[in-house]
Amino acid sequence: MPEITVIGAGLAGSEAALSAASQGVSVRLYEMRPHRMTPAHRSGDFAELVCSTSLGGEGEMQSKGMLQAELRSVGGAIVGAADESRVPAGNALAVDRDAFSARVTERVRSHPLITVVEEEVQQVPEGICVIASGPLTSDALAEDVARLTGSERLSFYDAAAPVIDAASIDMSVAWRAGRYDQSADYINCPFTKEEYLRFIGALETARTHTPHDWEKLEFFEGCMPIEEIARRGPDTPRFGPMSPKGLDDPRTGRWPYAVAQLRQEDAEGRMWSLVGFQTGLKWGDQKDVVQLIPGLENAEIVRYGVMHRNTYLNAPAVLQETLQLRADPQKFVAGVLAGTEGYLESAATGWLAGLNAARLAQGLAPSAPPHTSMLGGLVHYLASANPGGFQPMNVNWALVPDPELPAGKRKWGKREKRPLMFRAGLQDFGTWAETQGLAVTLPAAAQPPE
Ligand code: FAD
Repeated sequence: MPEITVIGAGLAGSEAALSAASQGVSVRLYEMRPHRMTPAHRSGDFAELVCSTSLGGEGEMQSKGMLQAELRSVGGAIVGAADESRVPAGNALAVDRDAFSARVTERVRSHPLITVVEEEVQQVPEGICVIASGPLTSDALAEDVARLTGSERLSFYDAAAPVIDAASIDMSVAWRAGRYDQSADYINCPFTKEEYLRFIGALETARTHTPHDWEKLEFFEGCMPIEEIARRGPDTPRFGPMSPKGLDDPRTGRWPYAVAQLRQEDAEGRMWSLVGFQTGLKWGDQKDVVQLIPGLENAEIVRYGVMHRNTYLNAPAVLQETLQLRADPQKFVAGVLAGTEGYLESAATGWLAGLNAARLAQGLAPSAPPHTSMLGGLVHYLASANPGGFQPMNVNWALVPDPELPAGKRKWGKREKRPLMFRAGLQDFGTWAETQGLAVTLPAAAQPPE
């Protein structure tokens, strides 16, 4: 049976190596640290948490909680190490940073089927390989990945706008239309002059995230943050991304004073991003500013805007749901490089890529979890999102479908629907995992109520 290669022993790569090895497949795992460090890592340990020590909220009301439960049900190594290194943090899965990385490192290094090579990989090797070199992939490897995928499909920074859950947009205020009667592909939020000036005032005074020196970006005109555009003069956004031209508000029959437009992000239309609103505002301030947009007063932001250095692929253009490159199915991509955001998402895609790489080595077909599960919803999004302006995604409830409404009910409340989605998704995930020959232990919360 062929040996598989994993590049990077971060969150995704460590999980991928252990996931593949647990299938009885030999793994050669390359990690360039400590000989060559990234600007964010501080040690040579595997799965180092470079910033916060939280792997997200827990329980059936949290999308990260659902993903944690899926990974736990199949013995995921990262979530297992997190459970063993946890520190009290309310309803979040937070860990002791050093104890967590030490556990993962020990588990990887002591596995009899994993050979660790402390070396920078400069070229993607022949054969079955999981590329999990993360947001700070070394330059030589990034160049080679770009050769495999096409350079226009590899980005070196995020200039992301907030993404909104469609169910939280007030469509009695906003309306669907394209400019000058083009196809109705956008949701439009109309401003009066007074609303616009209040919004610009809030934008100008909102606080921005302070990047590390190495994260600082040169902004191009095409990806200027909205707060920077507003600083050039209160009317600048109105003559740029917030132009109302060609958009007749059905409530007045006229063009509004300004418009915020949203573009569909996923195939199902559950997530919409604010066009031209890339922003580096702090998350609390970002939410306050977004909720000043008419129609978005109760907006639920499923992905906040960010501006920082990041290496990632345009996943929908290059990846399948199995995390295989469309251009070369022997190559899998996981973690932030695959277009995910977050420690847990990196680990989850690493787990799936490792499992699928092992299956390919064993002559079995790779597969992806059902779309009702959080991991299935995430990889489905990666493979099918709008490739135009694709930005990395973290898990959220809009990735999985709402349960069917019972007869006579018009709308679900969050508190009602999430436990149903959690239960159905976990059960589907468990059934799928069993078909992959895995041992599955579902939590009590995934069982139907008595
Ligand atoms: P990593 O964990 O970075 O692992 C990639 C590994 O590949 C590294 O060990 C690296 O040394 C190695 N490598 C790179 N190139 C090569 C090569 N050529 N050869 C061999 N090895 C190589 N997410 C959160 O959930 N919470 C946060 O607080 C958070 N903060 C972040 C802060 C910063 C500064 C950055 C950059 C990202 C942050 N993220 C955060 C996003 C993301 O979740 C983490 O970066 C996460 O570690 C990504 O997992 P990964 O496995 O894709 O990459």
